Amino acid sequence: MKTPLSNPDISKDDIVAINKVLTTPNLSLGPKLDEFEEKFSTYIESRYAVAVNSGTSGLHLLIRALDIKEDDLVVTSPFSFISSANCILFERAKPLFVDIDENTMNIDVDKVWNELRKLKKEISGKNRLKAILPVHVFGRPCEMDEVMEIARDYELGIIEDAAEAVGAEYKNKNEKWKKVGSFGDCGIFAFYPNKQMTTGEGGMIVTDDENLYKLCRSMRNQGRGEGSTWLQHERLGYNYRLSDINCALGIAQLERIDEILDKREKVVRLYNKRLKDCDDVICPHFEKNKKISWFVYVVRLKDRFERRDRDVILDRLRERGIGCSNYFTPIHLQPFYRKMFGYKKGDFPMTEKVSERTIALPFFNNLEEEQIDYVCENLIKIISDL
Ligand SMILES: *Cc1c(COP(=O)(O)O)cnc(C)c1O
Repeated sequence: MKTPLSNPDISKDDIVAINKVLTTPNLSLGPKLDEFEEKFSTYIESRYAVAVNSGTSGLHLLIRALDIKEDDLVVTSPFSFISSANCILFERAKPLFVDIDENTMNIDVDKVWNELRKLKKEISGKNRLKAILPVHVFGRPCEMDEVMEIARDYELGIIEDAAEAVGAEYKNKNEKWKKVGSFGDCGIFAFYPNKQMTTGEGGMIVTDDENLYKLCRSMRNQGRGEGSTWLQHERLGYNYRLSDINCALGIAQLERIDEILDKREKVVRLYNKRLKDCDDVICPHFEKNKKISWFVYVVRLKDRFERRDRDVILDRLRERGIGCSNYFTPIHLQPFYRKMFGYKKGDFPMTEKVSERTIALPFFNNLEEEQIDYVCENLIKIISDL
């Protein structure tokens, strides 16, 4: 039995929707683009949405739209996918990494307060603290009340990296449930095939700020202005457009997003049930003020295990046809980050402790109960045979 780590869920209706676009002359900048943006902003309850060709492109445009430049600082987490920090480097600004909370694996807001208090004295005019970029890791919302208070206190922009968290919700201190991406000044989502919903490649920027919206729209389309002709360019821009073919798939997937998220939550509950008596791993937990949008199913080995135990487990799972991964390698320990900034092991101990012990197990909408049983039986056996 072979079970992949992830598996896109493309329905017959999705294929019909894609094929329909191919019978029209509007393969890009057509009606499906407007429709996807409109439906997505309605879903998130943001005023505006701008579709782009990847989540990374969305992050890059937001860094530029917030005027973050050389030597500026952006607070973010080292426990994430590489592009949430790379987008800061694209503009020669610097990530100010803050370690994570062990339980949520998201940026630790208490540590952010401490770090900024310490830094306040040191930050000169040259290194200006500009923004905070919280990442809703694995679809679990960050502590947004705290993030917003930090941003208010230090006058920071907020860019939410919600690439892994489409449909996740957080109950704020006024008891109001809101979708992630709609808390900060702006946010991004991503639609690579391993994400909850996919457009093949693609991403979406969301914001309530008209100025950010207009800048992002222009920059994704070679810097053209509202009324510009094809060869008029008002500012430096890029080709970060998302084709109408991708948008049609996005619309079709968004139509069944609630069903998709329900299916994924059911898979999580089945896994948690199978693994609840296994004393060697920590399973992902639910939280009462958060609705998690399950991106992956990641268990963590208890502290008594070491990195090499985890790596042996990953190898043995793969030998048995079970897709798995070590989400994530800490960003600060990636070779070029070490080289550029001099980071070393020990700089962010919680991130390192967690990342040495994570095991992402097969996880997708239509994962069957028998497959979950097979994965769990093997995992338990492999650990007990270590
Ligand atoms: C997937 C992902 C991105 C980037 O999305 P792409 O569409 O692959 O560029 C950014 N941040 C996080 C946390 C992600 O998981």
